[in-house]
Amino acid sequence: MDNRDIAAVLREIAVFNDLSGGNTFKSRAFEAVARTVEKLPESLADLVAQDRLSEVKGVGKGTEQVIRELLATGASSELAKLKASFPPGITDLLSLSGMGPKRVKAVYERLGVSTIKALESACREGRVAELDGFGDKTQAKILKAIEYVKTTVGQRLYSEALAIGGELSRLCGDSGLFARVDFAGSLRRGKHVFKDIDLLLVPARDNTGAEVQAFLASLADPDGLIGAGPTKVSIRRTGLQVDFRVVPPGSWPAALQHFTGSKEHNTALRSRAKTLGLKMNEYGVYDASGAALPLDDEASVYRSVGLDWIPPEIREADGEIEAAAAGALPVLVEPGDFRGMVHVHSTWSDGTCSVKELARGCIARGLEWMCLSDHSRSAGYAGGLSDERLREQASEVAALNRKIAPFRIFHGIESDILGDGSLDYPDEVLAGLDFVIGSVHAKLGMGRDEATARLVAAIAHPRLTMLGHPGGGLLLSREGYPWDEQKVLAALADRGVVLEHNCNPHRLDPGWQVLKRAREKGVLVSVNPDAHDLEGFDDVRFGVIMARKAWLGRRDVLNTRTVEEIDAYFAQRRGRGR
Ligand SMILES: [Zn+2]
Ligand SMILES: [Zn+2]
Repeated sequence: MDNRDIAAVLREIAVFNDLSGGNTFKSRAFEAVARTVEKLPESLADLVAQDRLSEVKGVGKGTEQVIRELLATGASSELAKLKASFPPGITDLLSLSGMGPKRVKAVYERLGVSTIKALESACREGRVAELDGFGDKTQAKILKAIEYVKTTVGQRLYSEALAIGGELSRLCGDSGLFARVDFAGSLRRGKHVFKDIDLLLVPARDNTGAEVQAFLASLADPDGLIGAGPTKVSIRRTGLQVDFRVVPPGSWPAALQHFTGSKEHNTALRSRAKTLGLKMNEYGVYDASGAALPLDDEASVYRSVGLDWIPPEIREADGEIEAAAAGALPVLVEPGDFRGMVHVHSTWSDGTCSVKELARGCIARGLEWMCLSDHSRSAGYAGGLSDERLREQASEVAALNRKIAPFRIFHGIESDILGDGSLDYPDEVLAGLDFVIGSVHAKLGMGRDEATARLVAAIAHPRLTMLGHPGGGLLLSREGYPWDEQKVLAALADRGVVLEHNCNPHRLDPGWQVLKRAREKGVLVSVNPDAHDLEGFDDVRFGVIMARKAWLGRRDVLNTRTVEEIDAYFAQRRGRGR
């Protein structure tokens, strides 16, 4: 068992302890140790062997016993005992927004409900509303959460789809059966959530035969083989549908173009081919006599219809073909253009790294600056900073900046946008900061007009630098509130406030379509990982793809500024607030 497996068991014990109505301090302690264990550079097995387990922060008698048992036997008797009193699958109920352990315990004990389906019937029959502490409003909210989860069954976050695709691509590569393995479909174009993924394969030898099919089928989950033929094998892998397309080497350029899509892009491309007297499909491009044009890569497919190569991210039939025909494709932002990390949480609020560790992480990634933004004082659940703590943090940042120059930490805050659209500190406190991100974290149950008014009021605040995750949704688990994108974008443009693209894969908020309109209105976009640890920095890769989908170039993205430029930018913004 590695540290991650052990952390997962500690978390499960905390969940079942809560469900059993056990001591909540115990659950919080188990969760805290789980978080620590995940980040430990050394393996617990080594620490136990060297009798150094007590050095791990937070480990007490209870967690020590579980860790030792897991390492010795691979299982926890405590977890088994706790689980025994519940039907399997009860934890599914916890995935519903608004259903915490207390509520799950209540519906199970008093209504015998242990599945989402049973909970839905109980809600429809009005039995949930009658329970103490529930009521009509809560029942309606639970039903809404169930409806949302039902629409997302079988779908995956971008990060998960990419991990599954990456693993399969490696396995195919290692098999020696293939000359080429490429991502196709939305895995190549970028997307918020995935129903399925596509991989394009060129066999190494001149056969697409039984060996290839058997190998691809062997990658399926138990009972996960959907279909297998010479050109297409479909499987489920950890529940996600995967389509393998097997093509001969000669068809590869056209097939890569075709299977990358989007469908709408391909339709537009084919009709362009038709007007040029050409025919285009997944095998090749053909002239009027039916002769195949020579193609050696994907760019030659586009060239054959008189176009520059179009980056996969923007193949959404949203103006890219016209732009390519006019020789006016945008120059898209690249990962290498990034110089600054924005929206980072430290141990001062709910992050797991110190400010220094975060700065070092940025330096190691070749960056010049970082925008530190812990949670504000209203965000008690996330360790939000009091006025006093914010001042203490400012001195720590100033001291660090002296040590790590020329790298620069800008000191700001992720201020809660309160119910009426105001920010979380008095103006004079906000005025002492380099920048202010405003985000909605509470009272999310708003209608469109209310949400829009709240966001627009925050944007009008002279101290606001940037609007954080404007839609408030969590992909596949919580629908955001509706908001009027046009009005909010107009307000951002009017006030010169930056729009965050929150690229945590659970958010990807706002979507690329909104970012694209933001660019058209001249609104600057900041691609922010909302990182709570160093691994969180890696989420910027999702943000870069979404920024590219939105046609953003280097100058459209705040993170590409040099340290001098960003310093001047913040100074100018602060000046405007005076
Ligand atoms: Zn936030
Ligand atoms: Zn945040």
